[in-house]
Amino acid sequence: MQLYNSLSHKKEDFIPREAGKVSMYTCGPTVYHYAHIGNLRSYIMEDILEKYLRFTGLDVKRVMNITDVGHLTSDGDTGDDKMLKGAKREHKTVMEIAKFYTDAFFADCAKLNIKTPDVVVPATTYIDEFIRVISSLMEKGYAYEAGGNIYFDTSKLDKYYVFGDFSEEDLEVGVREGVEADGNKRNKADFVLWFTKSKFDDQELKWESPWGIGYPGWHIECSCISMKNLGEYLDIHCGGIDNAFPHHTNEIAQSEAYLGHEWCNYWFHVHHLNTNSGKMSKSKGEFLTVSLLEEKGYDPLVYRFFCLNSHYRKSLVFSWENLDNAAQSFNKLIEKIAPLTKEAAGEIDKAEYDRLRSSFDEALGNDINTSLAVTALYDVLKSKANASTKLALLRDFDTVLGLDLIKKAEDKANAAGSTSADIPAEVLELVEQRKAARKEKNFALADELRDKIAALGYEVKETRQGTEINKL
Ligand code: AMP
Ligand code: ZN
Repeated sequence: MQLYNSLSHKKEDFIPREAGKVSMYTCGPTVYHYAHIGNLRSYIMEDILEKYLRFTGLDVKRVMNITDVGHLTSDGDTGDDKMLKGAKREHKTVMEIAKFYTDAFFADCAKLNIKTPDVVVPATTYIDEFIRVISSLMEKGYAYEAGGNIYFDTSKLDKYYVFGDFSEEDLEVGVREGVEADGNKRNKADFVLWFTKSKFDDQELKWESPWGIGYPGWHIECSCISMKNLGEYLDIHCGGIDNAFPHHTNEIAQSEAYLGHEWCNYWFHVHHLNTNSGKMSKSKGEFLTVSLLEEKGYDPLVYRFFCLNSHYRKSLVFSWENLDNAAQSFNKLIEKIAPLTKEAAGEIDKAEYDRLRSSFDEALGNDINTSLAVTALYDVLKSKANASTKLALLRDFDTVLGLDLIKKAEDKANAAGSTSADIPAEVLELVEQRKAARKEKNFALADELRDKIAALGYEVKETRQGTEINKL
């Protein structure tokens, strides 16, 4: 398989260190608010990567942190503590909002068919580990104490800006937010490993440490959680492109200083989901969530399908119109699959199966080209293969694509079967009347008709995909 590596800026053959096994680390969410659909684009594409690696027969162990401490609004050492900001906004404790938004994150992931990583670690449960690694960095001379905080000394490294796309100017971000630069730093690029003094008197979560009561910086959590669970060598590290600097740059600095050798071979960065007004961001307050998509009548998997139709290394523009187009294509796709689920089972045509599977494999094996993988899916439907072969292929592809293709097609086939034959004419008539009432925006009448339909034992739902009638 070929994978683009942000470290080398080129596509490379993906070769895990240990044959047949892959260690994979993902930066988890900062749980001070709901994840927005931009964040979830990153997790969808990382999910596809993980599932494709498994599809090729590799044994993947994936670890993710939950950031519940230390992440400041600038991504560096300036700005407010995101968790504290969330807690104040909701008049709750930091731990209460961490629990609430962690659960909300996994509920969203479940709706989008994003698999939960094998190991999930909230940063606040690893404080001893952070202190151990920071102490070692102090002993090795890579960290220093200044003004009560512990900083990583970037001047001790041969190379700090490992991704090559960033420079000292990018560190001005925090300063632009109107925050004073930190005078304790020996070098501009140095970053905090442990905060004691100088920030947030009202910091809720604090722990004892050899340097005084305080709390960890954001970057150290991912290095420690990864090394503890995946060992000294990491095959792939993932995250959104904004994480490359300073977060991942700092992770590499401290991990390699601690280990004394290179740490992670491949860096997989997902580019941003933008709206017409720019990058989607939690700190802006107004943002799009999975719940909002549902409220507007979209199946969350339509959003997953929308994401699959573009490449993870290109930024993607979200608009309702684009999502509507995806909803229509998704619906048509399911409609094409539906009759296959009813056709008599035949022998699988091995030659056709292998031929069609290999184009899917090639698409994803070429730097996770998901839109070509979706094309391979349509090619299956267009092919001359029999229904059993087609269904077997679709089932197989869907272990990676995660679109619930077969289940949705079966539901559609069953619903179609019942619309024509089994649903009483009286119900169908009421459904038509209700459609007309909705069109005239007479929602009171529409509700009344829905209740009448329910009394006859049927449920009617308007979705972006059309009217659905189901037996109660
Ligand atoms: P956070 O919860 O802010 O720590 O971010 C969680 C993940 O979402 C990280 O991997 C970010 O890099 C990623 N991310 C943030 N904003 C976007 C966006 N607009 N599009 C795609 N990914 C994003
Ligand atoms: Zn991280």
